[in-house]
Amino acid sequence: MLSANSSESTHWRSRLAPTPSGYLHLGNACNFLLTWLWIRHLGGELWLRIDDLDQARVRPEYIEDIFQQLDWLGLDTDQGPRSVAALQQSWSQQLRTERYLSALTTLKNTGALYRCTCSRRQWQALVGEEGRYPGTCRHRQHSTEQPGSWRIRLPAAATVCWQNWPSGREELDLTDEMGDFVIQRRDGQVAYQLASCVDDLDWQMNLLIRGVDLRPSTAAQSHLLRLLEPERVHPVVLHHSLLTDEGNRKFSKSDGALSLHILKEQGYTPAAVYRSCAHWRGWPEASNVQSLNDLQQSFVLALKQEP
Ligand SMILES: [Zn+2]
Repeated sequence: MLSANSSESTHWRSRLAPTPSGYLHLGNACNFLLTWLWIRHLGGELWLRIDDLDQARVRPEYIEDIFQQLDWLGLDTDQGPRSVAALQQSWSQQLRTERYLSALTTLKNTGALYRCTCSRRQWQALVGEEGRYPGTCRHRQHSTEQPGSWRIRLPAAATVCWQNWPSGREELDLTDEMGDFVIQRRDGQVAYQLASCVDDLDWQMNLLIRGVDLRPSTAAQSHLLRLLEPERVHPVVLHHSLLTDEGNRKFSKSDGALSLHILKEQGYTPAAVYRSCAHWRGWPEASNVQSLNDLQQSFVLALKQEP
């Protein structure tokens, strides 16, 4: 487990990175709590980054909801927007389009990208809905005049390795997991993977805490980072299990009933959310947690009990 020595000289920086395409749910809250607990324990810096690049999915009430729920949970951040107005003025990913496009150009210059003119329907007709893009356009030289996306050219075996937090290494075969994924969509918008990688790079994130369902994204972003800045030290990553309901289903944004704002209306308190978090992680004294301070103590007790 974490030894104090390993973290003494490092200035840790992490982020909460919600996407405002739905109301925050209990699973998001537990991820935020875990991230907040770790970074406060390490004496590091916590940023809020709202992933609002995909304007077709973003809604103002979802953005507002992020601020409200963070406030309700009592989670403070050190950098990032504190209000909708601040997001729009200074922090929105919409304001960073130029930066993302310059990263896109860097990738093109390394020869890592190729133009793809296939529609999803066309390539899925070849490999099925669950399949990966089969690389149809890899060796075709499409003109950029034709509508199309830019995809990454992955090697035959793209094993990506990263450092797990707090210890160990993990790897994943990106080719097998994602295939030649899209870097810039047909409509010109850069893909989440590139924007997220560039934001983490520019803001010098060195500790990422995310659900295990994002392992392929970790591998994709790690691969992009290596292409963009080969010398750069990669963030360490804690992939946590997903919070599940009693039927062992993971929470998702489509489960409206589990949205924090609805739970709140039903009389749920922040303390109940803290207890859910402690139970989920199997921390000591989980049932007795009444406050964020109690949750911190439960977390620290859990750290001490690790071998
Ligand atoms: Zn294609």
